[in-house]
Amino acid sequence: MKIGIDIGGSHIGIGLVDNNGSIILKNEKFIKDKTNIEKLIEEFIIENVLQMKELYDIESIGIAIPGTIAENKIVKAVNLGIENYDLAEKLEKILKLKVKLKNDAKCAALAEYKYGELAPFRNSVFLCIGTGVGGAVIYDGKLLEPKNVPGFEFSHTIIQKNGNLCNCGKRGCFETYASMKKFKEKISDEFNLNTLSGEKIREFIRANQENITLRYIINNYIEDLSIGISNIINIFEPEALCFGGSFAEYEDILLAPLKTMLLKGNLLFNKRDDIIIKHAKLKNDAGIIGATLI
Ligand SMILES: [Zn+2]
Repeated sequence: MKIGIDIGGSHIGIGLVDNNGSIILKNEKFIKDKTNIEKLIEEFIIENVLQMKELYDIESIGIAIPGTIAENKIVKAVNLGIENYDLAEKLEKILKLKVKLKNDAKCAALAEYKYGELAPFRNSVFLCIGTGVGGAVIYDGKLLEPKNVPGFEFSHTIIQKNGNLCNCGKRGCFETYASMKKFKEKISDEFNLNTLSGEKIREFIRANQENITLRYIINNYIEDLSIGISNIINIFEPEALCFGGSFAEYEDILLAPLKTMLLKGNLLFNKRDDIIIKHAKLKNDAGIIGATLI
C-alpha cells in the first residue's frame, strides 16, 4: 500500500492506494485560509498518515504539488503562496517513511496514462484546469521532464501583451484567463452571485443559457482557453488531450464549445480533426493516484 496526497489550490486530499491504483481510504480538507498554510498541510498529513499506519503496512508517500519542484523540494507554488519549502524532509523525520514530491499535473498525467483515458496513446497532453492551470506531456510513452529546471509551465505562457497580472509576477499569463477560478469569479462578479461554489455556478449557467452577457463571458473564456491550448497542440501535436481539475465538471457547458473552437476554428497550424479530447477518467482522484506512481 502507498499513500498518495494531492495538494490543490483550495483543498488537500489524502488516499491509501493499493497496487492496482484503487483508493481504499480517502480524507479531504478544504483550505480556506492560506496564512500559515505550511503548518496546516503538515498537521493534516501527519494526523492522517499516523492513522493509516496503524491499520496498514505503508510502503511510501507521494505528494502532488501545484507548483515547481526541484530535488524533492517545493521551489514555489504561487497559488498557495509557498516558496523554498522542504516538506518531504519535515514529514520523513516524523513519519519515518520515504516521501516523494512531484508537480500535480505530472502526477495526474501519470495516473491517466496508467489507468485512465490516456492509456491507449503514446503521445498526449494532460491539462489540469482548476485554481490554476497545470500541464504535462507524455511523448513516445514517457512523461517529458527537462533536466535542470522543471518546465512545461503552459500556464505561464503569455497569451496577452500587458495583460492580467499573474501570481508569478508576469503579465498576460494563460492561467490568468483560463483557470476555473477566473471563470467562476467573472460570472459571480458580473451577476452578484456571492459564491464561487462550482455547483451553484453551474446551476446558474444552466438556468440562464439565453442571457447575452453570460454567453459573452463563456465565449470569451472558450476563446482564451482555445488560444492557449492551440499553442500547446501546435508544438506537440498530441494524439489525445485530457482535461482534469474542476473544468471536468463542466462537460456540457465548456467542453463541447472548446472542442468545436479547437478543431473547427482557425487556431491549428496542422488542421486536424482527429485529436481525441476527453475529460479525465479519474477526475479529482488523479492527483492522489498519480502521486503513488512517482
Ligand atoms: Zn504567470
